[in-house]
Amino acid sequence: MSNLKYGIMGGTFNPIHNAHIRMAEEVRDILDLDKIIFIPTGTPPHKNNLNIDALDRYEMTKLAISGNDKFEVSDIEVLNKGVSYTVETVGKLKEFYPNVEFYFITGADSILDIYKWKNPEKLLSLCKFVSVKRPNYSDDLEAKIKEIVDKFGGEILLVDGPLLNISSTEIRERVREGRPIYDFVPQKVADYIKENKLYIKWI
Ligand code: ATP
Ligand code: MG
Repeated sequence: MSNLKYGIMGGTFNPIHNAHIRMAEEVRDILDLDKIIFIPTGTPPHKNNLNIDALDRYEMTKLAISGNDKFEVSDIEVLNKGVSYTVETVGKLKEFYPNVEFYFITGADSILDIYKWKNPEKLLSLCKFVSVKRPNYSDDLEAKIKEIVDKFGGEILLVDGPLLNISSTEIRERVREGRPIYDFVPQKVADYIKENKLYIKWI
């Protein structure tokens, strides 16, 4: 029986940025995970302001992780025509990799959203969660995580992480205003955004 441990980094990745990469690297290192699967969302249930194609977000994710052999990207949600729920995505991964232990990695803001997700009890029974601190979101995080575990069960590990104050929202704004983003995203992602004229118009 194998005892492989995989991390899952779910996100809109609109676009993927350096904080995503750094937090994944740190969690992989701290928990000694065998690999991390990045899963860009298809049609996210809680975000309806996407103005770029899921395939662009998938492509940028692929570019951002290229060269790291512990990272891979999955199109499981991007190719799903309907809404993808995390509990279903993790269920499919567990069917595909029955002997792997999964760790779902989220930032401090997203873990608190779990109340709005589909079937949190089941999700927390399928995988462990890793919550990474995020600037401006981590007040009282331990107490809030305890409330979640008391309510739904499971296990949520809290990790300090790199504490980078970067968000995709700020990157989209900077591109729209013609300001540089080179400190925020890998070079290949910056080039992709420029070549494909992403985020110039706000729809
Ligand atoms: P947006 O501003 O569009 O919401 P985002 O920067 O929050 O974008 P997402 O794709 O929404 O990026 O996030 C994917 C995951 O990464 C989420 O779990 C989120 O909490 C986490 N995350 C994103 N940025 C950071 C950060 N700077 N520090 C810690 N966690 C982060
Ligand atoms: Mg976000």
